[in-house]
Amino acid sequence: MGFKLIAGNRPQLWLGSFDIFPQDKFRHGISTKHGGCSQGQYASLNLGLHVEDEAEKVIANRRIFCEALGMDSEKTTTCQQVHGNNVAVITEKQSGAGFLDFSQSIPDTDALITNVPEVPLMLFFADCTPILLADPAHRAVGLAHGGWKGTFGSIVAKTVEAMQDNYGSRPEDILAAIGPSIGSCCYQIGDDLAEKFRARFPEFQAEILSGPEGNVHLDLQKTNTLQLLQAGLKPEHIENAHVCTCCHSEQFFSYRADKGKTGRIAAIISVK
Ligand SMILES: [Zn+2]
Repeated sequence: MGFKLIAGNRPQLWLGSFDIFPQDKFRHGISTKHGGCSQGQYASLNLGLHVEDEAEKVIANRRIFCEALGMDSEKTTTCQQVHGNNVAVITEKQSGAGFLDFSQSIPDTDALITNVPEVPLMLFFADCTPILLADPAHRAVGLAHGGWKGTFGSIVAKTVEAMQDNYGSRPEDILAAIGPSIGSCCYQIGDDLAEKFRARFPEFQAEILSGPEGNVHLDLQKTNTLQLLQAGLKPEHIENAHVCTCCHSEQFFSYRADKGKTGRIAAIISVK
């Protein structure tokens, strides 16, 4: 069990991979910031179209990443990621939304699910938590964007629920991975926000919040893991990369480490 970086098909291209997802049934990957063609603060594999990088370079980067994983970039589907908790069900008809043009990505949505083979779901991150889901029994996948707002809104629990409602997935069958994202080591929050999390998740507070008043740290990876367990996933079916993007900003784009002006890594998953 674990998360590792595997050399891709180009110099400097590294692909993050989890052991939890059976390779005969799913494709998936996490990008790093290396192996692409963007420059400056977006160097080099920036995959976000909404961050004022040159669109042609971002699209070229997206193709590099998708093709290295054997995925069809034309069918790769994205959403606008508005820090909400809406989940969209992707059918063949929406496939490819937003790959070439941000304005065409699925609006008002922070999580995607699909059971259409070879339709990759792709979301973008710079410290927020990527949560990848796969149901081998019903051949379905999900992907969620867990920033503090999405996590507060239980987006990952909503994504599991959407897989149950739409594909008949059973939580005990679902495999999950928590991708590289800001760790509690680097995620200090205000006392007001800490109080909100304490009130919303009283049963988790001892595990997700640490430190004294005025220096409280929040563990978003843990909060999402606890939500998955509460939703009925088995502990042995949840893999956490345990990688802090802010501590490892040489490898991953980090909003905090780069003071807001930075690129985006991506998480991607599809049914084979
Ligand atoms: Zn850290």
